[in-house]
Amino acid sequence: MQRDDSAATNALPPTPWHALSAQDIYARLQTTPDGLTPDDVAARQRQYGRNLLPTKPPPKLWLVILHQFTNSLIYILLIAGLVALAIGDFKDAAFIFGVVILNAIIGTYQEWRAEQNAYALQSLLEIRSRVRRRGEVLTVSAEDLVPGDIVLFESGDKVAADVRLVQVSNLGVDEALLTGESMPITKSVAPLAETTPVSDRTNMVFAGSLVVTGRGMGVVVETGTRTEVGRIAQSLIEVASAKPPLLVRMEQFSHQVGIIILACSCLLGVVSVLQGLPVREVFLVMVGLAVAAIPEGLPVALTVALSIATARMANRKVIARRLVAVESLGSCTVIASDKTGTLTLNEQTAQVIILPDGQRFEATGQGYCGEGEVTLADGRPLTDAQREVLRRLGRAAILCNEGALTRTAEGWRHSGDAMDVALLALGHKLGLTPETERKNHPLLEEIPFESERRYAAVAYRSGNQTHVAVKGAVEVVAGFCQTMLTANGERPLDLNHVVQQSDALAAEGYRVLAIAHGTVAPAGDTLPDLTQVKGLTLVGLVGFIDPLRPEVKAAVAQARRAGVKVLMITGDHPLTALAIARDLGLAQSKEETVAGKELAGLTGEQLRQWLDAHPQVRVFARVTPDQKLAIVDALVARGEVVAVTGDGVNDAPALNRANIGVAMGSGTDVAKEAAQIIITDDNFASIVAGIEEGRYAYANIRKVTWFLISTGAASLILIGGTVALALPMPLSAVQWLWLNLVTNGIQDVALAFEAGEEGAMRQPPRDPKEGIFDRRMITHVLLGGITMAVLCFGLWVYLMNSGVEVNSARNILLAFFVLIQFFYVLTCRSETASAFSISWRRNPVLIGGALTALSVHILSMNWSVMQSVLRLEPLSLDKWFGLAALATIVFIVMETYKRWQRMSQERTLTQETPTTA
Ligand code: ADP
Ligand code: MG
Repeated sequence: MQRDDSAATNALPPTPWHALSAQDIYARLQTTPDGLTPDDVAARQRQYGRNLLPTKPPPKLWLVILHQFTNSLIYILLIAGLVALAIGDFKDAAFIFGVVILNAIIGTYQEWRAEQNAYALQSLLEIRSRVRRRGEVLTVSAEDLVPGDIVLFESGDKVAADVRLVQVSNLGVDEALLTGESMPITKSVAPLAETTPVSDRTNMVFAGSLVVTGRGMGVVVETGTRTEVGRIAQSLIEVASAKPPLLVRMEQFSHQVGIIILACSCLLGVVSVLQGLPVREVFLVMVGLAVAAIPEGLPVALTVALSIATARMANRKVIARRLVAVESLGSCTVIASDKTGTLTLNEQTAQVIILPDGQRFEATGQGYCGEGEVTLADGRPLTDAQREVLRRLGRAAILCNEGALTRTAEGWRHSGDAMDVALLALGHKLGLTPETERKNHPLLEEIPFESERRYAAVAYRSGNQTHVAVKGAVEVVAGFCQTMLTANGERPLDLNHVVQQSDALAAEGYRVLAIAHGTVAPAGDTLPDLTQVKGLTLVGLVGFIDPLRPEVKAAVAQARRAGVKVLMITGDHPLTALAIARDLGLAQSKEETVAGKELAGLTGEQLRQWLDAHPQVRVFARVTPDQKLAIVDALVARGEVVAVTGDGVNDAPALNRANIGVAMGSGTDVAKEAAQIIITDDNFASIVAGIEEGRYAYANIRKVTWFLISTGAASLILIGGTVALALPMPLSAVQWLWLNLVTNGIQDVALAFEAGEEGAMRQPPRDPKEGIFDRRMITHVLLGGITMAVLCFGLWVYLMNSGVEVNSARNILLAFFVLIQFFYVLTCRSETASAFSISWRRNPVLIGGALTALSVHILSMNWSVMQSVLRLEPLSLDKWFGLAALATIVFIVMETYKRWQRMSQERTLTQETPTTA
């Protein structure tokens, strides 16, 4: 019957949820504050469908195919094909169209795969929501939400459905997606007039909005396409597909080269016609030249290289939300990392308690489990008096707490903030039961923890008194206190003494929280203003241990070898931060640490000067989100390529401003939205892995460029030379096509699959301002291009002089060209290392590709169809050997040059050593 009921709801006009009272909402949606049962959820999912917004569909296949025909080279080819048709050269025409189609098929396949890849990555980034079902708080995929679900919000969450709020605590929501207004709107719960416009419905939150402060709870009222955004937006979740600047530059480059080549080939055409060659022949040669020299494969190969890198990064837990990030990761010079959760596991255990009078206690047991006990530091059991004092601390920590830790039949279950859960575990160890304590002391009011506030506070009633409990950073909590607890009762607060104790704990690497408790004015109707409370008693300090992530130390060392500076930017205490930085080999001394308050008041320019004057600083502690943003700004202004990690709402601006914003998989939705890459395992080491893959990708792009530009240059020089000497064209148009789009095309893309070279992470980052055509690239392109051109030209002149018939001579030259490229691509596998030192296993695709290209050509020479299309004929074995021997010359020249470079580099290194030793 529930089904019938809601089927009717489905057909109804939008319900004015904002005008109904919470009771009405519960009744209408047949739900309770405890939430739905699993059966309800299943039935409603069948009925309402999944909570999905229409996403931008992946491009249609036919559009991708069409896209392959929108490039200038294809236009040239199509014109050439038509001209060939017009003059009755059907074989040539068929071949040209065949190549165009082949090109389109390969292009379509590559583009299609890249798109599918991008989609697969997107789907990894699902939004999750916290719901209460059958009284229990669960985290579910936002797609599973149904009307009637009770959802819980905290700052950083993305709202996944339209929700009528029933409980809020300082809930501020950014509704820019709906209203265009990014100032957060403070939410309430009272019913509103039915005519209230959407933008003023302060008792509702809408799908697509971001929670920026506070906490809230509400009932899901609309899902999927029935939500406000579902109704207005056809596509909400755009796949970020901004082209990386490198790709844009390369496309521009090949476009410019294309224009120059076209101009050259027109000039060539005019000269040839003047020399008396037949117009038809000349036209096809012009096409041949254009095909030979325009680096049309470049953008394709680059896209492939970047998309391979994205896939490789994903295997290493790095999701690049934008292709740009692949490129910038490769040139990253500074990583500014969070501490908690990124460098450490954020698996907190409350291990030490220090009372203000100096008594020290320790808790046994590790992790999120309430088993263990609290003893004196030397292991002696607690006295009753001590237990009583510690329970006061434990109770405050349990009540001022948003976590959950319960013992179930299957073991301990926990949810919520790691520090909170750790305090609940401590409560259990002190013999307190959080559920009982919470039931006996209902909260009147609370200020939830937000990282920039550094404390949390609650008011609750006990007996007929109003109590306040506060926990947070020592210096903040002390501000609420007048007294402190000692063995002899409460004494006036001795702040210096407490700070000393806290510093000592922090220096041991403990994360320190102070806990305060007290009563305020006798219980009445007025609630205390929790931000203004004074006169509490500092009950004690708790030291938390948070294990380091095991891989981080090696990753920090690896980053250092790779010339990437690692900074820690944390909200935590300077001494705790330094102790952890020491363990990680990230910093050693106090001089390498700075506290946020020392930077207070520095403006952008001043901060930059400060950073210039203090290049040794590695740890920024007790830093506010604003300062983090300012530090990132200053680093970027200094020309660094900065990767910044962040998890909270307030990190979003810094993530945006950085060259590479890095969000953690477990971080808030807000941070993920602002970031360019997401680390699915939260691990610092993965960032370094991302840098490594980024460098490999860039190196591969260079290799492809080197290969393509030098073979293009060789063709250009060869054609120019023959025109100058008025020799016949070295290859026919269809042969040029064959060489460039078929045999060459197989190889250039294969270079993009090259696995990284070992040395890549032992070099400093590349200069982000330096283009791809640096000195080394230009030298290599010229040396390789000229060598190949000289060999081909020499062979051509020789063949012509010895009276070989033109078609046979072309057959020989074409075979030679294919061989030359075979050897040349092997040398292009590394710009520095010897080709012999690189195992074929590092790129089986390339070895396979090069062999395939060669075999395809040999087969064509022996297959009558291709023989007649390309005017090929088989060659005798001795000719093959002769040509192969000649072709190795380019390989020998390049390898010798690389070797000479390596040696001269070593020489400069050994010359430098005496001065450094
Ligand atoms: P980090 O940079 O290590 O992530 P945070 O911003 O999370 O630092 O925390 C900053 C400070 O806030 C901590 O040093 C601690 O004093 C305090 N703090 C952290 N978590 C809580 C919490 N759940 N309740 C109260 N105070 C907290
Ligand atoms: Mg934190």
